[in-house]
Amino acid sequence: MLYNIHYEVSAIFFLLTVFAYLRRQELSDEEKSFQWLVFYCILANALDVATAFTISYAIHIPIFINMIFNSMYYTVAPLTAIYFYHYVVVSHRGSEKETPFFYINRLVSAAYFVLLFVNFFTGVMFMFSPEGEYLKGPLFLVGFYVPFYYVFYSAAVLIKNIKSYSRNSVVFVLTFVILLILGNILQLTIFKGVLFSFFCAALAIPLVLFGMETPDYKMLVKTRKELELAKDEAQKANEDKNIFLANMSHEIRTPINVVMGMDEMILQECKSSRIKEYAEEIENAANGLLSIINDILDISKIESGEIEIKPVSYEIADMVNYSYQMVKMSVKEKKLKFQAKCMEGIPRLLYGDEVRIRQILINLLTNAVKYTHEGSVSLDVSYEKKSEKELLLCLEVRDTGIGIREADIERLFLSFERMQQEENRKIEGTGLGLAITGQLVELMGGKIEVKSEVGKGSSFRVEILQGIQDSASARNFCIGTKSEDERRKNKYDIGLYAPQGKVLIVDDTFVNLKVVEGLLKATGLQIDMALSGRESVEKTLENKYHIIFMDHMMPGMNGIEAFKRITENEENPNHDTPIIMLTANAVSGAKEEYMDIGFKDYLSKPVSGKQLIEMLGKYLPMEVIERVDVY
Ligand code: ADP
Repeated sequence: MLYNIHYEVSAIFFLLTVFAYLRRQELSDEEKSFQWLVFYCILANALDVATAFTISYAIHIPIFINMIFNSMYYTVAPLTAIYFYHYVVVSHRGSEKETPFFYINRLVSAAYFVLLFVNFFTGVMFMFSPEGEYLKGPLFLVGFYVPFYYVFYSAAVLIKNIKSYSRNSVVFVLTFVILLILGNILQLTIFKGVLFSFFCAALAIPLVLFGMETPDYKMLVKTRKELELAKDEAQKANEDKNIFLANMSHEIRTPINVVMGMDEMILQECKSSRIKEYAEEIENAANGLLSIINDILDISKIESGEIEIKPVSYEIADMVNYSYQMVKMSVKEKKLKFQAKCMEGIPRLLYGDEVRIRQILINLLTNAVKYTHEGSVSLDVSYEKKSEKELLLCLEVRDTGIGIREADIERLFLSFERMQQEENRKIEGTGLGLAITGQLVELMGGKIEVKSEVGKGSSFRVEILQGIQDSASARNFCIGTKSEDERRKNKYDIGLYAPQGKVLIVDDTFVNLKVVEGLLKATGLQIDMALSGRESVEKTLENKYHIIFMDHMMPGMNGIEAFKRITENEENPNHDTPIIMLTANAVSGAKEEYMDIGFKDYLSKPVSGKQLIEMLGKYLPMEVIERVDVY
């Protein structure tokens, strides 16, 4: 029989072109196995054509030459499939891993080649009669099963890892598999005289080439992998940064606690006005340091998506008043005029994240005061009612300060960006305030607008949607009524006297114990101290306390373990004593975590006398409080 060889001859030329194209590229390992696939496919086509001749003219050709040609064909045909398999596995895993299938696959090829060798002498697969007739042996189909086995195995690997391929590559490669199988089936069944099984494979190869091997696509995959890697690394670095910042903030807070605590005692006890002035300078500097640490911690939490918006009901007047109190001193020191205006009829009680809105307003007011040397700072609170339940709260802070260059405005909200560094060198700042402000506004779904003119002043306008809890009009904003002396008095004078009260303070740093003890001196309380978790447990077994202040991080038994030992032991006279966490861990959400464990309340270091007194006022039993002084 004369075979039709046109298809496979054209396939050879076509594949040679593809091969030449690949030879010009610099190839990776997986691309090299693709090149081998093309090479074996060319060889398979060529041998298919050659055997078509030797079988057709078998009568004129010695049998052993025919056997050699056919055996070569039966060697190359599965090798094509094996290289396809190799290509798929390598492109998926980077190398052929030694899985159980690795050995099975090797065994299949070894057994096949042994069979081919045995066939030479036995004709179990095929042979030629002395008349030159091509005879199929009982194992003839093994020559097809083995390549199919590899093609199916590769298809299975592809399907199993379908997620790591793009949809295109999967479609192309599966089309390759289908074409290959279809070509073989058609040639074996319907078109017995036409050679096109390897023609189909040759047709399918460009599909793989365009689907997986074209340089653009490869570049895309490579870039995507690199991007993913870079993203992972950046995420890891960011997590490390956050852990570092949380630790740093914790470590710095501890000494600041001592500085501020001791300083507060000087302010309380010292009669010399000069020393009081020094102490006030220390207080200002320590507050500045604390606000920098808080800003750094805030920005890192915002960036890592840890900040949640927690809406509560709040009085708009209180919020504005509180924010003003924060800048009042500087307004006075700089002899600026301060005006606050509130739109009439603004609902009294709103619903939103008061803490964050306050933080935004304080940041804007602080900047307005900081960057204004003369003139005025004004605050406009207005609103636009959206429905019975919602309004758009607008806070506008205007100043007559140095202004911002137009080109700088878009950089304002980036972290650590400070404008006009030369002129502003003397003004302290980190460039974080507006970054935090901008991100908080965004987090609350609001918007912020800046208008500014150099030398004339700036205006920052924030709009945020808030709920309405009580639509009765807010009271007049009484801004700036207390004098400086009154402020100091409120801050330092102790308003509670309870000599019958017994308090235990637990901290592994002695000087911290001294600070709290000093701050509580005027209360007359009976104060016990423990320098470790273990000691605190022992002390609680011996004495009954009214309140326990417990540090968290302590070597050996930490504050939480000590808390559990105390509260879980029914025999302990203090198992129901209010225990208050007093820690340098100021990460947002820390309070909730401690309270979930069972702590009655939470204070973060540095702690002030006022905060301690407030806690005592809340948790000391009424019968031990002898006197509450209201100043
Ligand atoms: P910081 O004040 O700590 O430097 P901010 O993020 O609060 O950081 O502000 C970033 C920069 O924007 C400031 O350094 C300042 O140059 C400029 N800026 C902010 N508010 C004003 C303002 N009201 N008037 C003039 N410049 C301002």
